[in-house]
Amino acid sequence: MTQSSNQANNTRFACVGCGACCRGRFVPLTLSETLAWLRRGHSVAVLLEAFDDSAWPYGAPEFGYHKLRSASVQCGAGALQVIAIFAGNVIPQCPNLGADDLCSIYSERPLVCRIYPMEINPFIPLSPLSKDCPPESWDQGNLLGSDRELTNQILQSRQADRDDGQRKVEICEALGLTVAAWKGNGFTIYMPKVETMLAAIESLGEQDSTEPSWRIKAEDVELQEALEHRSFALEKADSADFIFHQL
Ligand code: SF4
Ligand code: SF4
Repeated sequence: MTQSSNQANNTRFACVGCGACCRGRFVPLTLSETLAWLRRGHSVAVLLEAFDDSAWPYGAPEFGYHKLRSASVQCGAGALQVIAIFAGNVIPQCPNLGADDLCSIYSERPLVCRIYPMEINPFIPLSPLSKDCPPESWDQGNLLGSDRELTNQILQSRQADRDDGQRKVEICEALGLTVAAWKGNGFTIYMPKVETMLAAIESLGEQDSTEPSWRIKAEDVELQEALEHRSFALEKADSADFIFHQL
């Protein structure tokens, strides 16, 4: 049993419909949800992170979890894993949020909207203090850990992560989005145009399959040295193509 599910077993929660989770964030999407989001004309951010077995040893549960949701790529003279997160841009607020603070696509809302405030990553414990839900939503309602529908949605989301990992990275390569941050150090965040990203997804597999060389963006000097020591290529120039968000 994970830390997350242990915590959830003891936590009561009932959504009060405040809409706070529909504002000021990125909403991670499966690939099919990404298509639906883009076809509604709304923008999707691409967040990229990379790692190898120096983050966790091979065989460690965390390594296995993240490897299954990533794709192997070439970076300089080394090989690493890249995770591409496609996320609906709900900054300052979700384009699907009505003036009444209700979701206008409620029956079709993304999995992550159904799962919040639970964590999808089994290695992140549920922490009510880190969530946007107001105090009155906690300590009432059902125990989160015994909600079977919620558990199934979390499993479905993890499965989609595994199913989509390779294709999401291929879409990034088709779009030329090939600079990732180092896992745990930050994310690179790209904001492709809606129509450009939609076309890349819809034509996936039709392009020539060249294998681009990825680069890592890191501003921490010690991390840069460690990555260069492992023969990875670094992105050293400033670029307007992406934002580097350091954690
Ligand atoms: S899709 Fe609906 S539930 Fe999800 S963030 Fe937007 S308004 Fe909120
Ligand atoms: S922030 Fe929490 S309580 Fe408010 S709408 Fe989202 S899930 Fe419900």
